[in-house]
Amino acid sequence: MIPLAARPEVAMSTPPERTELLYTGKAKQVFATTDPDLLWIHFTDGATAFNGVKRATITDKGRINAQISAGLFERVEAAGVATHLVQAIGPADHLVHRLEIIPVEVVVRNIAAGSLSKRLAIPEGTALPRPLVEFFYKSDELNDPLITDDQALLFGWARAWELAYLRDAALRVNDLLCGFWDGLDITLVDFKLEFGRALGRGRGGQILLADEITPDGSRLWEKGTLRKLDKDVFRRDLGDLGDTYRELFERVFGEAAGR
Ligand code: ADP
Ligand code: UDP
Repeated sequence: MIPLAARPEVAMSTPPERTELLYTGKAKQVFATTDPDLLWIHFTDGATAFNGVKRATITDKGRINAQISAGLFERVEAAGVATHLVQAIGPADHLVHRLEIIPVEVVVRNIAAGSLSKRLAIPEGTALPRPLVEFFYKSDELNDPLITDDQALLFGWARAWELAYLRDAALRVNDLLCGFWDGLDITLVDFKLEFGRALGRGRGGQILLADEITPDGSRLWEKGTLRKLDKDVFRRDLGDLGDTYRELFERVFGEAAGR
């Protein structure tokens, strides 16, 4: 597997400027820009687990996540799944299409772990016979509960065709990511995606893959050793998350995560 090319900031002919801060999340800040159809997402060094109960600052994390995510979004886009990424606009910054986020988080699992293992007593590490897609309602107040398709339809969180698209696109992304991580001797255990509806010009009407694809939102196990190379290192106190992410960056880009 050829590592992702480390990408210098790309210059737009007239890049929009960052304006007011719209939202501060657990790991990102979202800014408006001088272009009403575009947002500026800044990846912070904040780490949270258990819905914000456990918190820390991890040096370099924002930069590493932003760069890994940008590289993976480019591959996903090239494989035919449209994404919100316009361009990486700074070391920890993405310029993206402004979306109406669909409040359905899509988790794809290849191996049982985390909440699936707890909920159904499937031992962690059990290989699944085929990828499993699960939908969760995006609600911090409710701790992102697992939902059925019918609940998503009945409560108006997504339309039937949108759920079908989410499932299909998530499985296509899974195929691509499994191959990518496999080439780095890493098993993709599971990951979470968010999607949104494009409202502005250009991509209006389309559903785009949004948010991020990062080790914060994925489980990545080193083949052979089963060593965790993802945010479980932080959730479960397994070591230094910064060191883990720097090692992952080096594997992904073939060079150290220098400043
Ligand atoms: P959280 O909201 O869970 O604390 P983050 O810190 O990652 O998470 O905040 C980023 C927020 O930006 C998320 O709520 C995510 O749904 C939202 N978001 C991501 N991409 C877009 C986009 N293209 N348009 C609008 N909102 C987006
Ligand atoms: N995940 C995420 N954000 C969430 C919930 C889950 O990014 O709010 C990711 C998580 O990192 C893992 C996958 O989705 O890669 C499945 O998570 P799970 O349902 O097992 O929940 P967990 O036990 O991690 O809370």
